[in-house]
Amino acid sequence: MDKEQIQHIRADFPILTEKIYGKELIYFDNGATTQKPRCVVEKMENGYYHLNANIHRGVHYLSQKATEAHEAARVTVAEFLHAGKHEEIIFTRGTTEAINLVATSFGEAFCNAGDEIIVSVMEHHSNIVPWQMLCERKGLKLKVIPMNECGELNIEAFKALLNERTKIVSVAHVSNVLGTINPVKEIIRIAHEKNVPVLIDGAQAVPHIPVNVVELDADFYVFSAHKIYGPTGIGVLYGKSDLLNAIPPYQGGGEMIATVSFEKTTYNELPFKFEAGTPDYIGSTALAEAIRYVDNIGLDKIAEHEHELLTYGTKRLLEIDGMRIIGTAKDKSSVISFLVGNIHPYDIGMLLDKLGIAVRTGHHCAQPLIDSLEIPGTVRASFAFYNTKEEIDTFVEALKRVVTMLS
Ligand code: PMP
Repeated sequence: MDKEQIQHIRADFPILTEKIYGKELIYFDNGATTQKPRCVVEKMENGYYHLNANIHRGVHYLSQKATEAHEAARVTVAEFLHAGKHEEIIFTRGTTEAINLVATSFGEAFCNAGDEIIVSVMEHHSNIVPWQMLCERKGLKLKVIPMNECGELNIEAFKALLNERTKIVSVAHVSNVLGTINPVKEIIRIAHEKNVPVLIDGAQAVPHIPVNVVELDADFYVFSAHKIYGPTGIGVLYGKSDLLNAIPPYQGGGEMIATVSFEKTTYNELPFKFEAGTPDYIGSTALAEAIRYVDNIGLDKIAEHEHELLTYGTKRLLEIDGMRIIGTAKDKSSVISFLVGNIHPYDIGMLLDKLGIAVRTGHHCAQPLIDSLEIPGTVRASFAFYNTKEEIDTFVEALKRVVTMLS
């Protein structure tokens, strides 16, 4: 993308012109959440002003329009992930809830004492803790795929962990700390050779990489709207319909039932079986708008621009004495985690903030990974398509000043 195109895109994001402590905002915390283009916010505003009525059960005009919009959003998401059937798209509150749903319902249906679950060392807490809770409930074992010093998963070790007791594998498509793009297609193929289903945590992947769940042959694929320029509070679970049909509902309530009596309740069909209560029908339509926005720019173009930012940012950061980049996988997304000398990441983040630069510091909800690296945490700069090389220049100059002050 050329400069003009990026300026054009930036104009869609009002927050990017905000001043922070009198400085122009440089927003490099896209891994935590992305900023929202005007069209997404307007979609929500329009929804609440003109299309607001509870969906699915209403006979009246507004309810039917809101239902149509919500179900159209489901189709948009299905097309975005290249899912075969739109009922394989379940709306959740986000990645975290989607993983909890699978851990609970799949665990209930298929896991028994002594069984094993495999995750990787680079997982976000939301892809560790729900499985640990299941392990505690049912007496299962959690096994962990290790990685090499570049932050790439050890596939041979993964193969060795798989056995007849393995019930499910759950790994990130892209690490939120290291930026590593994991070879999920290969991981799924290997697991399927042993008939083990795989959940892919796509929270950090969908904003950057085109995803085709059928081509990947993923059994479950999850993501959050807010990381792909959509609203907070909504996310997606894709699941193969035979698996979703085979596992029990996650929560009980309205919408997810077919009939209710005090003697017996029967459940609704997919996708409603997993959507108890009033869904976030405004959020779903806003997510669909975000997807259309991203599609209009084109994920290929986005990936290319972000890769340039990654390469340029890495090169410029390495100018700084004592720079240590954490995560140097060959296949990497636009995330740079780093440490400088012995300076605590929090101190760097605090001072960068005073200069208007938003980065994240700490363990990034991946404490086991940070502990395994024996570091106190990292400073993380994560780029989106609206970021520029000029912002990286300002960031690097600011960082040099900060490092001088702290050394
Ligand atoms: N997995 C990964 C890889 C993430 O980066 C995040 C968010 N940082 C999550 C899961 C959790 O997403 P959410 O908080 O939106 O549920």
